[in-house]
Amino acid sequence: MAKRFSIIVIPEGGSKVSSFHLRSGFVKFAICCSLVVVGLSAFFAYKYFNFKIDYAELQRLRVSTIEQHQTLLSLTADLKEVHQQMDDLAESEARVRQLADLESLPEDVPVAIGGIQELEVNDDVDEIQRQINKLQVAIELRRQSQEGVRNLLNDQVSLSRATPKGWPTKGWLTSYFGMRKSPFTGRRVMHEGLDIAANTGTPVTATADGIVSRVKYSPDYGKMVIIDHGYGYRTIFAHNSKVLVKAGQRIKRGDVISQVGNTGRSTGSHLHYELRLNGVPIDPRKTL
Ligand SMILES: [Zn+2]
Repeated sequence: MAKRFSIIVIPEGGSKVSSFHLRSGFVKFAICCSLVVVGLSAFFAYKYFNFKIDYAELQRLRVSTIEQHQTLLSLTADLKEVHQQMDDLAESEARVRQLADLESLPEDVPVAIGGIQELEVNDDVDEIQRQINKLQVAIELRRQSQEGVRNLLNDQVSLSRATPKGWPTKGWLTSYFGMRKSPFTGRRVMHEGLDIAANTGTPVTATADGIVSRVKYSPDYGKMVIIDHGYGYRTIFAHNSKVLVKAGQRIKRGDVISQVGNTGRSTGSHLHYELRLNGVPIDPRKTL
């Protein structure tokens, strides 16, 4: 490489030509400086644009974080609301059990959802998830408990409908349940039902839901109807003039089953009404 460089400046119009002489070391130094300046400029430009992109991303993330926070707050409020509703449900179920006179709750079914703390705004998603899981368990327990209540109530309703109650016909009592002197033999015998005097043809009604188990004629009881009510209850209607039901027929309390009469061993038109519990005659007067 040459040791010196010359730069000659030739102006137009014949003015004097000037020339500059540069040492080769200086030229090399100038070239290096230029390269460094260009490199640094490119580097900072690159950094600047990257920063612009990151900043936009940061702004977007900030907005998203605020939105997520709002969502968490809203979820927290919803969970509190669900807690309250579960507590209300538990309270109302306790009242139903009290009204229905059912046994108290099984021990594994909490009356209220214990063990769930109040949620704080800063609780994280994991904590909310845990609370939701607890609620799911509590809801399942509550559902099972309420199903139990429903079954128990259904049983009670069935038992109530199957328990004989009220008068089987319109009339007046002429003979009570218990030992009495037989109008036929004069000896003291057990009278296993009530005698209700009424005109022949007066309707006789079932005193509870059940199934007609027998319709037959007996020399003593005349035209008789026996109804099975389940739960050990049976009712017997004797001395009818007419029977209006058939064996196997399902009937409801209040259904007309026969008409009062004087058939069998009877001294006048009346209904002989018997109530048996597990085969043993009991006094129907308490049920009228
Ligand atoms: Zn009688």
